[in-house]
Amino acid sequence: MSLSNQLSHVRATLPEQVTLVAVSKTHPAERIMEAYEAGQRIFGENRPQELKAKYEVLPHDIEWHMIGHLQTNKVKYIAPFVAMIQSVDSARLTETIEKEAAKCNRLIDVLLEIHVAEEETKSGWNSEELFDYVVSGAFGRMPHVVVRGVMGVATNTDDEARVRADFEALHGQFERLKPYFGERFDVLSMGMSHDYPLAVSCGSTMVRVGSLIFGERDYSK
Ligand SMILES: *Cc1c(COP(=O)(O)O)cnc(C)c1O
Repeated sequence: MSLSNQLSHVRATLPEQVTLVAVSKTHPAERIMEAYEAGQRIFGENRPQELKAKYEVLPHDIEWHMIGHLQTNKVKYIAPFVAMIQSVDSARLTETIEKEAAKCNRLIDVLLEIHVAEEETKSGWNSEELFDYVVSGAFGRMPHVVVRGVMGVATNTDDEARVRADFEALHGQFERLKPYFGERFDVLSMGMSHDYPLAVSCGSTMVRVGSLIFGERDYSK
């Protein structure tokens, strides 16, 4: 199937209120342009330099989402234009985003990434540490960081009960944190190519789909 057919297929399976982030990491600008021509405007990338390089050559009405682990010294590459940083997983990173956003005189939307998966290697806040940080009022002192919600990655397994439990845990954390933020706290980003229908049934409002749209990634290049 062509990229535009794949994209329409994914869109057709999503309820209207669920936002689709097309994860274009590793894929060249020409492929992103194909998706753009098929009407897609939100793209996700996981490396700041790659994100910046693509931003520079592609149409500027694209909303770029950073979805991968972000080192504090790389925030500066994307702060001038990024639409949303979904992978905010520490106090230090949050404070760096505040500083860089202030320098650019911009507000940056962020999601708080919470660790729920079985794999220790996956990133994200420990939910209790995050809760303490939120309750401490830290975000009230960071006017350039707009907390829009929560992001997470489920355990990579065929065990559907485990994946469902991870999504339900993320939904629970989203509800628990919501009272501490304003009305704009309305994004629950969960679900990837292999598990997004289940994520949507567990309350996801934003899915991040890569290989189902662009095909398999080739990391050898
Ligand atoms: C790569 C990636 C995705 C997309 O994965 P697919 O399986 O290709 O859909 C989603 N979220 C994050 C955080 C990713 O790193």
